[in-house]
Amino acid sequence: MQATIITLGEELLSGQTVNTNLAHIAQALKSIGIETRRAVTIGDSEPMIQTELKRLDTPLIILTGGLGPTHDDLTKEGVCRYYGLPLVLHHESLSRIRNYFAKLGKDMADSNTKQAYFPADAIILPNRFGTAPGAIFEAEERTIVLLPGPPSEMQPMFVQVLDYLQGRFSTDPRHEAGYLLVGIGESDMESKLQAFYAEHADVDVASYANLAEIRYLFKSDNPEALEKAMDAFRLIADRYIVGPHDKTLEQRVVETLMHQEKTISFAESCTAGLAAGRLVNVPDASKVFRESYVLYDNASKMKQLGVHGTVIERFGAVSDACVYELAYHLAQRTDCDIALSISGIAGPSGGTAVKPVGTVYFGVHHEGKTKTRHKVFSGDRQMIRHKAVVHGLYLVLKALMHEDTD
Ligand code: AMP
Ligand code: MG
Repeated sequence: MQATIITLGEELLSGQTVNTNLAHIAQALKSIGIETRRAVTIGDSEPMIQTELKRLDTPLIILTGGLGPTHDDLTKEGVCRYYGLPLVLHHESLSRIRNYFAKLGKDMADSNTKQAYFPADAIILPNRFGTAPGAIFEAEERTIVLLPGPPSEMQPMFVQVLDYLQGRFSTDPRHEAGYLLVGIGESDMESKLQAFYAEHADVDVASYANLAEIRYLFKSDNPEALEKAMDAFRLIADRYIVGPHDKTLEQRVVETLMHQEKTISFAESCTAGLAAGRLVNVPDASKVFRESYVLYDNASKMKQLGVHGTVIERFGAVSDACVYELAYHLAQRTDCDIALSISGIAGPSGGTAVKPVGTVYFGVHHEGKTKTRHKVFSGDRQMIRHKAVVHGLYLVLKALMHEDTD
């Protein structure tokens, strides 16, 4: 079963209002096995509504917004005119809207009357938190759902819609699973997957890349095919996999530390506390997080964590030697089980031919050994800092799991 979602409102197009209705509806539909095939946002315009209805290719269509009392609220009128469905007065809705105002000690304005008109056979969805009722009706073998725009009205109403849809179109959700990957770019990963795609054509694969992280999601009607694809993918991408697609990297780090009863500390230069901040996104972080240093200038790297002046002079603060000393001394000083140091050039200035902007060095001290790595990240200052945090936490996780990294 597939759905189209149309969200209406000029404020959504201008970016003034974030389109939370779309996310809410798509997630709720997914939970009962209905896939959103298409989602569009349009202004309050009847020609635009018609254009979208013309190109409809799903049996279910859900529209939100434009059910208010004013002249620019024209969703219901536009949809019903397109399908040639006359609107008739629904007396019960009219008295509910009157009551709504009466409770507030107000008279209903004439303009609210139009909110009580619906196609004759529509199922009316009463609105407990506003005036605009919603509706479900059939037209040209499609099921059409109209909902008000304000999330505080739409969300409670959508509970009734879900009940209705579940009763009517109950379908098994497709089987799905996936992985979260770090440490490789999307295009490098894609080139490793050419044979995989050919061999697992019965599984749909989607990838979502976001600042140094990629989520791969696999869907299939056949659970065995899905499992086979997951296993094959793991063989190809093992060193980059950090966990299932529906977990965050920091959740994986915290749960692995908890499982191993270990603690972590950070010494951060260019990321200046972002790694620690990201870790404490996870509610259980207090069980594993020991201490964090933000050591931004060279003198504090020397003073707080004993980096030798000669290291800074000879190799610079962005170097293997510096992150090595930071991670090593951090582990001793804070008595943690794993220590991560990060030092890099976030830019826009400060790059050299040998160490361009985006160069970041990492030190990881674990089980008596200190290892260093470096990477060159693309992007602006914030992106580089963000990617450095992701990569640092990835190195921590792989060290804890005794797995290799590039
Ligand atoms: P309407 O039903 O078109 O009168 O919507 C009224 C208000 O609901 C708007 O001013 C927005 O603040 C909010 N709204 C409408 N559509 C959405 C949406 N898709 N996501 C979040 N809020 C919305
Ligand atoms: Mg509107």
